[in-house]
Amino acid sequence: MNKMIRSAIVILLAATFAGCQSAPEQTETNTNNKGETTMTNSGKHVLADLPYAHNALEPYIDERTMEIHHGKHHQAYVNNLNNAIEGTEMADMTLEEIFKNMSKYPMAVRNNGGGHWNHDLFWNIMGPNGGGKPTGELLAAIEKRFTSFEDFQEEFNRAGATRFGSGWAWLIVDADGDLHVTSTPNQDNPLMDVAEVQGTPILGVDVWEHAYYLKYQNRRPEYLSNFWNVVNWDEVARRYEALVK
Ligand code: MN
Repeated sequence: MNKMIRSAIVILLAATFAGCQSAPEQTETNTNNKGETTMTNSGKHVLADLPYAHNALEPYIDERTMEIHHGKHHQAYVNNLNNAIEGTEMADMTLEEIFKNMSKYPMAVRNNGGGHWNHDLFWNIMGPNGGGKPTGELLAAIEKRFTSFEDFQEEFNRAGATRFGSGWAWLIVDADGDLHVTSTPNQDNPLMDVAEVQGTPILGVDVWEHAYYLKYQNRRPEYLSNFWNVVNWDEVARRYEALVK
């Protein structure tokens, strides 16, 4: 058997094995009311199912991108995270606990733990029938902080468009309950002690090319302006209210 075929079989077997292993754990995946990811009893992080179909965000985010982004990229962060924390004190910690002292822990945990947490948030703050504006307390807080909802969108889009290379743009709530727009490189997030601006994200957009390249190629600003059509404001508001109450 030549080397390439042998490698392909190994990869296939590994993928099948990973699929069998993770399936029974998925029902144990849990997110608390602050949107924090919790672990299974086994201490392993798991990839939760998307809360909607892969094609549910069409035409703004295409089905194929969602399949690869969730099933391949996010799954890889979960697998690599589990490998990186196995047998260490981090295996018994939540991601939020690790993020508070991120600077003490290995880069593999920063990249893959961030990757897991960030994508969990991302899938949940989007949805079919999204878009429009928030209402109630969140809208009032946005208007107070950014003058208008449109000014907020502009600042958020600018944060995403000007992030050089890969990263995320965020709307966060800081320790005083105030809103800020910020961005982080790679899979960092504002919960990490290494972040320039710290707080809890309630909205985030992935500006890695893998998030938009199939449909938008190099047109990141177009992806960012279409993102607003799939934002699930009820979920963003729920997260905001849980933090400021
Ligand atoms: Mn991504």
